[in-house]
Amino acid sequence: MNFSGKNVLVTGSSRGIGADIARGLAKYGLKVWINYKSSVALADELKDEIISNGGQASVIGFDVSDEKAFIDAIKVIVESDGELSYLINNAGITNDKLALRMSLEDFNSVINANLGSTFIGCKSALKVMMKKRFGAVVNISSIVSEGGNAGQVNYSASKGGINTLTKSFAKESAPRGIRYNAVAPGFIKTDMTEKLPDDIKEEYQKNIPLNRFGNPDEVASVCAFLLSDEASYITGEIIRVNGGLYM
Ligand code: NAP
Repeated sequence: MNFSGKNVLVTGSSRGIGADIARGLAKYGLKVWINYKSSVALADELKDEIISNGGQASVIGFDVSDEKAFIDAIKVIVESDGELSYLINNAGITNDKLALRMSLEDFNSVINANLGSTFIGCKSALKVMMKKRFGAVVNISSIVSEGGNAGQVNYSASKGGINTLTKSFAKESAPRGIRYNAVAPGFIKTDMTEKLPDDIKEEYQKNIPLNRFGNPDEVASVCAFLLSDEASYITGEIIRVNGGLYM
């Protein structure tokens, strides 16, 4: 995969899966824009790490659910590099509780943070990518987007929405040469899954055919492929990366 001269914005890349996607893409020669909401120190550390390994990286802090902030960030990137080649909409949150205890506010806050921000990112990127008739976007979905999950009515609805949003953007923007795909991870070792109690983690692991949680770099490699020219005939796909847990 040859990404030389190209750049990518990875939202929510100060930690977790996003940080490994940023690391992985930098190794392929992409200039990486690292985004965070509050973890500025972690974002700066990652930038230093990528640069000390011979890669290129910059940090850009903004809240992905703030449309103006997202658009302004893309402007900064285009002014700096001349284009935005690729976008990974990775930033996401959970706020788990059983539906009977979930307020409409609990529901809407996760829909807005995950699905609303992905819509903003896909739309804002399209505006700049279509001018060059070049670009690709990967949205980070989840295994629960297809199977649902108890305690995650809000989160699973946001991720199910991301799947169909991805397909609709893919259909609208294919004539302009821009591809949209999604990656749906299962259980991946990050801060998000570390919050689960140990007995629940063990229970989940028993049901995974590959019998382990995934590593964030196993998500990163699929994102790199979907952005690359090697995937030039793939658009509107939701790729599962879940050790066989949901087939
Ligand atoms: P994580 O470790 O909790 O990290 C979340 C990242 O998103 C952080 O960098 C955080 O920034 C950023 N973020 C959150 N809200 C933001 C906002 N409004 N604006 C900008 N950045 C924001 O999460 P993760 O486990 O790596 O998950 C990453 C993605 O993978 C999410 O979309 C998640 O739904 C999906 N996913 C994860 C798993 C899993 O097993 N972990 C499975 C399926 C799907 P700060 O550091 O500044 O807070």
